Amino acid sequence: MKRPVIDISECVLCDICIDICPDVFIKNQAGYIEIKDNLSEEIYKSLEDDINEAIKNCRGDCLSWG
Ligand code: SF4
Repeated sequence: MKRPVIDISECVLCDICIDICPDVFIKNQAGYIEIKDNLSEEIYKSLEDDINEAIKNCRGDCLSWG
């Protein structure tokens, strides 16, 4: 299944992904960005434009489709 992935080692915590697509990207209790668990392929498909926008604007260039 195609889903977004994050290379957390490159994340600069700019929060842009959360601003653009809060249904997918969240900040965990430790303060790091995570992809929400248990999202279906249909949800990724319906949010594909927002996810692509987050990938394009990611300051750390650490988001991609996996
Ligand atoms: S947009 Fe990229 S660098 Fe910014 S918080 Fe999200 S994953 Fe990290």
